[in-house]
Amino acid sequence: MKYTITTPLYYVNDKPHLGSSYTTIACDAIARFQRLKGNTVLFLTGVDEHGQKIERTAASKKLQPQLHCDEITRKYKYLWDKLNISYDRFVRTTSKEHTSLVHQFYSKVLKSDDIYMGRQSGWYCVGCEEYKDVDKNDKAPICSIHKKELEWRDEENLFFKLSKYQDQIEKLIQIDGFISPKSRKNEIINFVSKGLRDFSISRVNLRWGIDVPGNEDHTFYVWFDALLGYLSGSLSYQDSPELTNNSLTNWPANLHVIGKDILRFHAVYWPAMLLSAGMKPPISVFGHGFLTREGQKMGKSLGNVLDPIQLLEYGGIDAMRWYLLRDIEFGDDGDFQMRRFVDIVNSDLSNTIGNLLNRTITMSKKWFNNSIPIDNSSVVESPLKDLSELKINEYMESFMKNNFKNSANSIIDLANSANHYLNEQAPWKLIKDVSNKDIVARDIYSVLESCRIIAILLNPFVPNLSIRILNQLNIDSTLITFEKSLNWGLLNPSNGLNNPTPVMNKLEFNEDLFYE
Ligand SMILES: [Zn+2]
Repeated sequence: MKYTITTPLYYVNDKPHLGSSYTTIACDAIARFQRLKGNTVLFLTGVDEHGQKIERTAASKKLQPQLHCDEITRKYKYLWDKLNISYDRFVRTTSKEHTSLVHQFYSKVLKSDDIYMGRQSGWYCVGCEEYKDVDKNDKAPICSIHKKELEWRDEENLFFKLSKYQDQIEKLIQIDGFISPKSRKNEIINFVSKGLRDFSISRVNLRWGIDVPGNEDHTFYVWFDALLGYLSGSLSYQDSPELTNNSLTNWPANLHVIGKDILRFHAVYWPAMLLSAGMKPPISVFGHGFLTREGQKMGKSLGNVLDPIQLLEYGGIDAMRWYLLRDIEFGDDGDFQMRRFVDIVNSDLSNTIGNLLNRTITMSKKWFNNSIPIDNSSVVESPLKDLSELKINEYMESFMKNNFKNSANSIIDLANSANHYLNEQAPWKLIKDVSNKDIVARDIYSVLESCRIIAILLNPFVPNLSIRILNQLNIDSTLITFEKSLNWGLLNPSNGLNNPTPVMNKLEFNEDLFYE
């Protein structure tokens, strides 16, 4: 089966922050999970490069907008590589392919008679790229999000007939699973129930955008342009994307993951635009929450911004990915806490999993000819077998709901139980009596087998650590699939074992790190 997943197309106003790293790590985990399920995944990420805010930011840096965009885009790509993000395509909305796609899409919407010229006046926030409803008596209104004065605009704009799609959008947003989590679905239902208003899709006083064919003094409104990046990135003919049925094999997207602040654009405007162009809306949209730091909103003026590159250099890729997916409830707002970061990573990855692997491999090599014991009789009898089946099911169920936290818990439960089993059985005592050798073989085999399963379940979360564990068990990580690799008893004694080295080093807590 095909599976298309997208991150938001990040606005290149500034370098990537912890929030965009978090979203992208979550999408990467989903993409890897779907690949392990045997699906053919298209994982799409990229950047949204147009709009007045970019034009002004570039001007303030005395750069051409394109050069500014190139510089920020490089930073995104650099960080995604450092985080081992397995994206298949990186969309740039300044590419010529994208421009061509936007023009093709626009002509389809025109044919549906969904565009008209109108006049729009009101208070505009450049930061939000949106008109704001403000109190009529307020002479210099301020954007509640950006705390900046709004600008008065009165101009001709092209409008899209969103109101025409009221009934279709009402039906769509009611579909089970279209919008998650539930609380956000209710927000959108409430918004749509007030009646959809047509929205403007062009600007006249903006040069840094895609030109509107037939209205040369207009450029497309940044949202009309950016949302189409999902489409231009998923077409099969990347060199010259043609918007035809043949090129739409990866569409509709199965999942758009976005921050909760842009849910309305994705769950209402975007599906209506697609319906107008005769295309299918996305299958699901997930709006996640925002990250705070030690209970406080992060901001430059507060001096508490956590730079993802610094965090990565300090903790490493596995620590960063694990903490964000394991400790923060995906969908809710979350709080980054340095103490928890260190404790969770040390406890889960270094102690519970790392030590389990290390000590069991050491015993196995020592007592069983430098290898994995051959378990003649009792693979099926190990209590860890039933437990692993239970935990694998829990893990799968949670992951399918994007509940990474519960999935991670299932992995740790299995590792804890394997540790407990080892301590109870105490093979280091049993081995002193030769007649116990079969029991010891069973115990060691079943703990190593648990480690193998743990490594596979860890793969979407922490692919690098997963591979290090599999390497010690002498297993080729490229051949892993859920279907073929999660049955109990697949660990092959003739594979042998590699020498145990710690798979995860401990982190030292340092309170003063990374305030910029
Ligand atoms: Zn604003």
